[in-house]
Amino acid sequence: MPKIDKNIIDRILEVARIEEVIGDVLGSYDHGNRAGLKKCGVRYEALCPFHADKSLGSFVVYPKGNCYKCFSCGAKGGVVDFLMEHEHLSYPDAIRWLGKKYNIDVDNVDVNWTYTPRPAPPPLEMLELPASMVTATYKALANESDNLVNWMKRGICWDNVQRKRLDENLHNYHVGHGKNGHTIFWQIDEFGRVRTGKMMKYKPDGHRDKESSWNFDFIHSVLSRTFHDNDPWPYPHIFNPDKQEARLTFFGMHLLNHFPNAAIKIVESEKTAILMATAYGNHTMDLWMACGGLEMITRERLQPLIDQNRRIILYPDRDGIDKWMAKAEQMHYSRITVDTEPVTKWWKPEDGEKADIADVVVRILNQSERLTNVRDVAEKMPQVKPLLDNLNLEVEDE
Ligand SMILES: [Zn+2]
Repeated sequence: MPKIDKNIIDRILEVARIEEVIGDVLGSYDHGNRAGLKKCGVRYEALCPFHADKSLGSFVVYPKGNCYKCFSCGAKGGVVDFLMEHEHLSYPDAIRWLGKKYNIDVDNVDVNWTYTPRPAPPPLEMLELPASMVTATYKALANESDNLVNWMKRGICWDNVQRKRLDENLHNYHVGHGKNGHTIFWQIDEFGRVRTGKMMKYKPDGHRDKESSWNFDFIHSVLSRTFHDNDPWPYPHIFNPDKQEARLTFFGMHLLNHFPNAAIKIVESEKTAILMATAYGNHTMDLWMACGGLEMITRERLQPLIDQNRRIILYPDRDGIDKWMAKAEQMHYSRITVDTEPVTKWWKPEDGEKADIADVVVRILNQSERLTNVRDVAEKMPQVKPLLDNLNLEVEDE
């Protein structure tokens, strides 16, 4: 048998639950099986399988710690220990046992390996918003009243491929527009459930409008404010305003399963995600997402990506490199890295110290376009001016 890949072991140990493994081996107490696992509050108990146990109480299974302990004979450990002890398996065979249970291929992993998502979505703490809310915000976008979208379409020198991609991306990422001037970035999870929308105002130059009133909000906050606490919430079947804590996800998460082999490239802002996805494309190798801020990067929110064993690359802005690197380390996931190239190698002093990735990329896009203009070529490269003069090239005025 070949050596098992460390990533696979990590992933298996992440998903394997002690109560599920022991429950599988011993069976459940509820089905008239006296030796089976019995739920007692937040923990489980069973007759200890490692000594001649006669009554419940000694052998305890702790889901929170993902471990078990017998207070009589001292047996203790985690999922792998249990299988090695009870089923007399070697360490690699215990991992293979878990791989089989959790549908993770252990020995036939290759570079093109794809993870098949679990068939049924787990229950969501809060209910989802109706998809019709999302589509309703497309309409205003079509009126060309959205500052950010107008700037993206006219303020950047895209080539023809990119121009087409921009339209596709605005649609695929579900960018909407509210009647009070907000650009709306819908947050839709990997199962296609609409969780909320982030509402932000932009200036005509494509930068955030932080001066005007009510320039930032979330759809779910607006919905909960619309009704007083005393009034009954009129739409309990579509949205529960009391359960908001787990609501946020990454912008672009709904595209995850459309790009099964892609590395996930995470930037801070939604605007940058769309810019990068337009300049460089979402394709089989890359998928761009936005986290919405460093504090939004948590193990919980990364879990859908970790479950699929995805490569995760974080792209900090220039002022956040150290913090983002520290954050990547805290995630305890071997396939997460930080790429600072756009804000170091691509960055130029003319971008300014405060330039974010979007500023740098837009400057590059607009500069490369300008160089195709004869006047600019002559200006930037005086040595070719005689050649241009000889060719008698007309310089068009804009
Ligand atoms: Zn025992």
